[in-house]
Amino acid sequence: MSELPYSYEAPVSQALFDRASAVTPGGVNSPVRAFRAVGGTPRFMVSGSGPYLTDADGREYVDLVCSWGPMILGHSHPEVIAAVQDAVSRGTSFGTPGEGEVALAEEIVARVEPVEQVRLVSSGTEATMSAIRLARGFTRRSKVIKFAGCYHGHVDSLLAAAGSGVATFALPDTPGVTGAQAGDTIVLPYNDLEAVNEAFHRHPGEIACVITEASPGNMGVVPPRPGFNQGLKDACSKNGALFISDEVMTGFRTSRAGWFGIDGVRPDLMTFGKVMGGGFPAAAFGGRADVMEHLAPAGPVYQAGTLSGNPVATAAGLAQLRLLDDAAYAKVDSVSETIQGLVTEALSKEGVAHRLQNASNMFSVFFADRDVRDYEDAKRQDSFRFTAFFHSMLAQGVYLPPSSFESWFVSTAHDEQAVQRIADALPAAARAAA
Ligand code: PLP
Repeated sequence: MSELPYSYEAPVSQALFDRASAVTPGGVNSPVRAFRAVGGTPRFMVSGSGPYLTDADGREYVDLVCSWGPMILGHSHPEVIAAVQDAVSRGTSFGTPGEGEVALAEEIVARVEPVEQVRLVSSGTEATMSAIRLARGFTRRSKVIKFAGCYHGHVDSLLAAAGSGVATFALPDTPGVTGAQAGDTIVLPYNDLEAVNEAFHRHPGEIACVITEASPGNMGVVPPRPGFNQGLKDACSKNGALFISDEVMTGFRTSRAGWFGIDGVRPDLMTFGKVMGGGFPAAAFGGRADVMEHLAPAGPVYQAGTLSGNPVATAAGLAQLRLLDDAAYAKVDSVSETIQGLVTEALSKEGVAHRLQNASNMFSVFFADRDVRDYEDAKRQDSFRFTAFFHSMLAQGVYLPPSSFESWFVSTAHDEQAVQRIADALPAAARAAA
């Protein structure tokens, strides 16, 4: 592996990062943005257009992060921007019901068949936290099964062996989560149905729900083995527990109906975020009407939010979802496949051991010599090679997730020119990782 190419500079971003570090812990408002895993200066972005981001130093990057998933139409899509401007011109928050949130809920219900009712919230974390509370309230049970390497936001009880930033920072668990909060969480290895059945056997009548990423992207992309999600659903049905599929990342991205549209396994509850907000803070949880009706004010399980169903966020989300027709998904899938092929070709040419794993149009590269099926496998990847690869791509104007425990994302706006820029950067990045 060659020297890490840190020599390029980003003085304006660095000055902003210095200012930020004085007033914000670690200089960022979400840990993985700080580049701690890869080193170097986090880029402060000032604008985005189509597949490109421009940083404060005036450098342009092809964006393969897409705001960690939401920007599936690319940045500043004119119709999304117009919908936002129209909504803003009428006011930004009323704290009352509004038609936009009804329309967004109807769009979600129409797309994702198991969702009979849906509640809008403002972040994926809120969605999973509320879904778990609802599952506990509905079943009158306490325990929750989650899988190592799956990230469901920073919900106290779910920050156990979580992927994403928790994996990036090698935190086993986080201080601040009490034993009582984590005590009802059973963490099992991903893709291991036997462990799930054994847990149900060990805790009869105690498990409220199983929550899983529909197809994980937070330990890098590690798809479920054939039959895994169905096995989870069957184990839940047999034992009186609810099956919660977290589609915050996969929802409305991997297909019109998210991962459900691909594997067809019917969850009792589902969570959404990212794409459905069109770049604004909007998220949701929904599912079986008989379960959702336990939520206040229809039922006793409390859940609320000052900005839930915010008119600007719902306008953005609705505009984005309405543009996501079959042709849009075909475009995202095809550009993703092309980029996956280019990455594989470049790394293979340099003889770099790697596994490129995908779930529909989500993908990531593991610098590893065998398939990655769970969190333990993911942690064995060679992160030094990833770092070298990342910095070479960054230096050449391609912005990858600054951690090897993340999915890469593309958009309908990634056109031939953007793909060519990626293709041009890959040979040197592959050499850096060799
Ligand atoms: N669930 C999954 C699968 C996610 O990927 C994320 C965020 O990356 C979340 C939940 C939390 O969403 P948010 O960051 O909007 O709170």
